[in-house]
Amino acid sequence: MNPLKTRIGVLGGGQLGRMLIEESARLNLHFNILEAEENCPCAAFANTFIKGSLMDEAKIRELAEISDVLTYEIEHVNTAALLKLEEEGKTIIPSPRILQLIQDKGLQKEFYAKHEIPSGKFFLVNTKSEWARLIPLLGSEKFVAKTRTGGYDGKGVAILNSAEMLEHPDRIPFEGPCVLEEFIVCEKELAVIVARDSKGNLVSYPSIEMEFDPIANLVTMLLSPARVGSIIEERAEEIARKVVAALDGPGLFAVELFMDKAGDIFVNEVAPRPHNSGHHTIEACYTSQYEQLARILLGLPLGSTELVQPAAMVNLLGAKDFSGSYKLDNLESICKLPGVFVHLYAKAESKPMRKMGHVSILAPSMEAVIEKANYVIEHLRFVKD
Ligand code: ADP
Repeated sequence: MNPLKTRIGVLGGGQLGRMLIEESARLNLHFNILEAEENCPCAAFANTFIKGSLMDEAKIRELAEISDVLTYEIEHVNTAALLKLEEEGKTIIPSPRILQLIQDKGLQKEFYAKHEIPSGKFFLVNTKSEWARLIPLLGSEKFVAKTRTGGYDGKGVAILNSAEMLEHPDRIPFEGPCVLEEFIVCEKELAVIVARDSKGNLVSYPSIEMEFDPIANLVTMLLSPARVGSIIEERAEEIARKVVAALDGPGLFAVELFMDKAGDIFVNEVAPRPHNSGHHTIEACYTSQYEQLARILLGLPLGSTELVQPAAMVNLLGAKDFSGSYKLDNLESICKLPGVFVHLYAKAESKPMRKMGHVSILAPSMEAVIEKANYVIEHLRFVKD
């Protein structure tokens, strides 16, 4: 079959799906989108748009019927329905078996332990009495609690004080199945994107260094390559590749990592899809994370992950002080800068801290990249239209 005729079905119509379609437009690929929100970022770009919940088995089957291969741009989907479709012979990349593992932070931690992937001490708990018994065994002043399922973008994650939780169990913020993790004193948060094709070939992208907004817990700026030196770079890529090799199936994966003061690397979690920390690859790498995923879905060879120039990515978040229709302040001065690429996700309304778009910034040196990125952060913002 002609790979360029492969009809790709995507669960989710957000910005990740939009960029997957944008980056595939050069190859004139065919996309079917399932999404509950008609006004979503993919709406105008899809060949066929199916309105429906990502939990609705009948809608997922409708998507599968008109698609040769399925993928997803968000983890919160009906995995049981996908597992059934896979059993019936449908190609789903990454496999819902991998998605099932990743949807549960407890299973993920057990998986790392089983495969001897460094990921920090943890315990799985269900009841408050288990919290009380196991917090002291983590042996740190602070620890991190996460609900096993349903969390995203920092929701369902809390950094807690061990003594306080033992003295005041009423302050425990979550009910039900949780993971309690040792708090890793992090020098840098890194991410490595790894792509694996159906033949088992693996490629990894140069690592990415993240900076977070401490209040919203969203990435504000990322830099690639991370400023960590070649030994840590190699270690980070090696660990990320080990994770993806162990997952044992095709797909594009973002492996989030912590680096401590000693330069040791720990795996935080994996996303089985294009990732916020790979947006810069559109302009900064020979093959973007989105084109890479499209190649995997089509059965084409993996592309080069080499960086063309050092790069930064700045998320454009909705202003804290208003919701509604918007325009970009200072767009004109930003347009005059070379190597600065503004992306907007076609969100109907701006909302406080909502991911509305991003800017990729390239320059011959990392110093010049950071200078331009700071200019973008200071000047480009959403205002009421
Ligand atoms: P989400 O899936 O919602 O993004 P994460 O598991 O990535 O949640 O956690 C969100 C953030 O919390 C991380 O990016 C990191 O800053 C912090 N964090 C999570 N786990 C730990 C840990 N074990 N030690 C230190 N910080 C952590």
